[in-house]
Amino acid sequence: MARLILNQLGKDFGTGRAAVNGFSLEVREGGFLALLGPSGCGKTTVLRMIAGFETPSDGSIHLGERLLADAAQSLPPEKRNMAMVFQSYALWPHMSVADNVGYPLKVRGLSGEAYRAKVREALGTVRLADYAERRPADLSGGQRQRVALARCLVTSPDVVLLDEPLANLDRHLKQEMEETFREFHQRSGATMIYVTHDQSEAMALATDVAVMSEGRLLQVAPPAEIYARPEGRIVGGLIGRGAILTLQVMGSERQLEWDVLQDALQAAKTDGADILVRPEDVIIGGEGAPAIVESVLFEGERYAVKLILGKGQTLRAYSRGVVEAGETVHAVIRAGWRL
Ligand code: ADP
Ligand code: MG
Repeated sequence: MARLILNQLGKDFGTGRAAVNGFSLEVREGGFLALLGPSGCGKTTVLRMIAGFETPSDGSIHLGERLLADAAQSLPPEKRNMAMVFQSYALWPHMSVADNVGYPLKVRGLSGEAYRAKVREALGTVRLADYAERRPADLSGGQRQRVALARCLVTSPDVVLLDEPLANLDRHLKQEMEETFREFHQRSGATMIYVTHDQSEAMALATDVAVMSEGRLLQVAPPAEIYARPEGRIVGGLIGRGAILTLQVMGSERQLEWDVLQDALQAAKTDGADILVRPEDVIIGGEGAPAIVESVLFEGERYAVKLILGKGQTLRAYSRGVVEAGETVHAVIRAGWRL
């Protein structure tokens, strides 16, 4: 195993706009990277180039010292020792769970005790050791996906590539599978790249989150850091909840009614600077600026509230007490982040 290095990777399908553009990224060995971005931004194309199903138009892909692909040459997928898990986890219905998992080993000519030991180990990793003789039809959706994971693990791939594997699952199963993926990563030690357009999934799962937009990489950082210090409007808008306020300076006066944004304001002396304010940094009540409650979402332990400020700007906040749409409250901003 080794680091995966993407250097200035580009892909142009000849449509007039590059699908992937100047994309440079390193994934450390054993890392779990989430590749996050809106639909159509180029995530699948990046993954397919890593897997070898697509040839780069520019740049290169290395695994450690080994060149996997550049514009001139490309190692075929079967020579890359990677596994790719898709959204639909096609299992053979007529084969047992163990046979499904062992299939890639059979293809490689493995048999006997070596074969059985690897299948047992892979099933153990996804906690399905007791299900070896069942058929896929006898399993739940989550269990079937674990079989698919075991099947991709059984060949000990250097890199596991997952393309929105949970996109079609309901919320409950999604949470269960997030646990499974985390555990799978810890137990297997595999380097994983997980493509998703769901920021909460990316944050919950990965050790690092790479945000992409329109073919380009915008930022890569651990979840807590990208949440606290997103770079630019696009990342700020994609990661977590919050509102972006644009600072307007009139003469030397800052045209915001509150002065609690000191830190962000200090940093943002320029007109038009964007300040990201997280809902947990907004306090409702007390001496703050008046704001009208536009909408309220009851979340069980709290209310998620959308506020409209005097200048028509939006702010998001949480409230423990009951608040109602149309009501006027007072909002204090404790902190903001200059995007
Ligand atoms: P994502 O996975 O983030 O939704 P994709 O990588 O699938 O995005 O697509 C990125 C862009 O490249 C899109 O504009 C898409 O239409 C285009 N694209 C992807 N595959 C092809 C292809 N084989 N031929 C032409 N355009 C493609
Ligand atoms: Mg895709």
